[in-house]
Amino acid sequence: MIPYGKQDIRPADLDAVLGVLKSDFLTQGPQVPLFEQRVASICKVPHAVAVNSATSALHLACLALDLKAGDWLWTSPITFVASANCGLYCGAKVDFVDIDPKSYNLCPKKLEEKLIQAERKGTLPKIVVAVHLAGQPCDMQKIHALSERYGFKIIEDASHAIGATYLGQPVGNCQYSNITVFSFHPVKIITTAEGGLATTRNTALAKKMQLLRSHGITRESEQMSHPPDGPWYYQQIALGFNYRMTELQAALGVSQLDRLNHYITKRRQLAETYNQRLEDFPVKLPFPSKESAWHLYIIRLETERHHISHRQVFENLRAANIGVNLHYIPVHTQPWYQQLGFKYGDFPEAEHYYQQAISLPLHPGLQEDEVEQVIQVLEESLSAV
Ligand SMILES: *Cc1c(COP(=O)(O)O)cnc(C)c1O
Repeated sequence: MIPYGKQDIRPADLDAVLGVLKSDFLTQGPQVPLFEQRVASICKVPHAVAVNSATSALHLACLALDLKAGDWLWTSPITFVASANCGLYCGAKVDFVDIDPKSYNLCPKKLEEKLIQAERKGTLPKIVVAVHLAGQPCDMQKIHALSERYGFKIIEDASHAIGATYLGQPVGNCQYSNITVFSFHPVKIITTAEGGLATTRNTALAKKMQLLRSHGITRESEQMSHPPDGPWYYQQIALGFNYRMTELQAALGVSQLDRLNHYITKRRQLAETYNQRLEDFPVKLPFPSKESAWHLYIIRLETERHHISHRQVFENLRAANIGVNLHYIPVHTQPWYQQLGFKYGDFPEAEHYYQQAISLPLHPGLQEDEVEQVIQVLEESLSAV
């Protein structure tokens, strides 16, 4: 099987993880702060808070931004469920903004229209989660301008986008957002097995996320209600969680970051090869981008032009051992969200996308002959009558 995504583990990664296993600290040692410093420096941002998943980072970001029962969180329907679930974790209500038909990211125009209506109804969102689908940054300038006008906070879900840039600046530097979240799941750009991280320019937000990732416990006397009872003392001053990243994960992350540039270059090259080879195919190619991290290479079948269904093309590729995938099933069509009142037809652009999209294999270990194999099976499928 040619998988759609796959981690790249090298001897340096093994050495890094083994080094931790032989050391005194398996958790809460020097590797996590080192990993945080490395990400912060790559993103040109003052604060980075590592946690055990991007899902946890999204939850902490919402809590730090004070999302509560009665508040609204808006995001794109074309994302992984975690981008929306984080709102539900906080007891808030979730709604979606339909996608832009070109970039497949949350559409700023539809966002503005929805904000105008919400202002009238008194249901403006507290948080908008902007998801950089496939590693292609959202139109952050427009979303940020709307946030100033309508007073919402912005979380960038950059789970696909470490190594991407936006207007020449690294994604994660939070120029147009309050917090940016990354994922280090094995299919993402770099991996820590499981793992996530939140960046911010705001010291208070960083401190709050640090507190909540470890039970709400502090050892800093200035945060305590009274002076410490003694050197053993700590205080729980908030209701937090155990969302900590381990030393093993952080060491793997530090080692993987050494190859971030290589990974992005490789992904861009492979995307370019696909672009060239698919130029004359009856498919819609991804939004052309020099800034994307190319986490995914998504094509859309122009289903009305083909004699073969989207599902049949997908099945043909899978039958030929090509691990294509579909990112994503629109979140509002999931039973959990239907049960909350969402219906088919609510976000037509997202639903149309879902009927046509296929993610082709794309990862740094993918060989040119494997790309050719993908192209060949796709060509055969599309020319079938
Ligand atoms: C992978 C992913 C997540 C969740 O990441 P985890 O680290 O697995 O929790 C959230 N949002 C998006 C867009 C993702 O792709």
